[in-house]
Parts: sequence; structure tokens; C-alpha cells
Amino acid sequence: MSHDFSLGTVDVSLTPLQRFEEFLQSRGKRVTQQRRIIVDRVFSHHEHFDADQLLEQLKSQVSDQSVSRPTVYRTLSELVDAGLLRKMVLNDRSVYEHDYGYPQHDHLHCEKCDKLIEFSSDEVKEIREAVARKHHFRAVGHRLIIYGLCADCSRTKRAARRLDLI
Ligand SMILES: [Zn+2]
Ligand SMILES: [Zn+2]
Repeated sequence: MSHDFSLGTVDVSLTPLQRFEEFLQSRGKRVTQQRRIIVDRVFSHHEHFDADQLLEQLKSQVSDQSVSRPTVYRTLSELVDAGLLRKMVLNDRSVYEHDYGYPQHDHLHCEKCDKLIEFSSDEVKEIREAVARKHHFRAVGHRLIIYGLCADCSRTKRAARRLDLI
């Protein structure tokens, strides 16, 4: 049996910034220049990042507006509440990635180098639905993280062990 673990695509009608604007409006807030800079940076490409990495990227960006650490933290949590970002806690580190407009997927997490590999599996979704049915539970999502060593890290580990034998 062959498996396809590739991610599909999702079409969305609003841009992340428009969607964030709607969310903030519903809470009586607005998109400030600082929030806009953060959203532009975060949604320029898909990656897994933490608040410190984002701060570094914002600092290296040519801009006359500096974004403060508290603003980054506050905006990240607003983006999670707005359904734009998804937060995962890995080894006590909060890691963020796109949720809005990005397909549902699961991860392999390398505990040595912190690499995250994404995959999508219909079989996992089937198990989720089957378990939920059994418990008369209405599933809306799931998170699966497989922990271990990535190919690169397990290779260096093997190489080190070989050296020990010499
Ligand atoms: Zn690794
Ligand atoms: Zn991911």
C-alpha cells in the first residue's frame, strides 16, 4: 500500500490582514502600523517560528518603525485567537505557524535539532473519525506530533557510534 503524505491546498476569500482586521474590529480594536508590520512579516512565507525568531527577523528588516517585544507577544496571541496562527508547545518553546489558508497537517519533530517535518494522512483522519464516532464525539480537529530523530541527526549519531568502536 502506498501512502501520499503531501499537503493539499486551501482557498480563502480574505487575505490574512483583512481577516485580522475583521477580528480586531469585533473586539473594538484596529490594525495599528506595528500589527501590520508583524502580519506582513509572518504571512510572507510559511514556516515554524517562535517569538524570538520573529523579533530577530523584524529587527533585521529595514523599517523606521521598531516593533517592541510586548507588541510581538500580544499580536501573536491575537493572531492565534483570530484563527490565523496555530501554536504548538515543543520542549517548553512556543512555536507558531499559519493556520488560516494552510492545510491541516501533522508533524514529525526532531528532538535533537528541533526540525519539524509536515505531513498529511487520510488514515489519521479516518482513525480520528472512527474514535470520535465510538464516543459520540464531534471532532473538529486533531494534533499529532511524532517525536524522534530526523534522518540527519540519526545519521550523525550512527557515525559517532562507529567512531567509538575504532
Ligand atoms: Zn534532527
Ligand atoms: Zn507545520
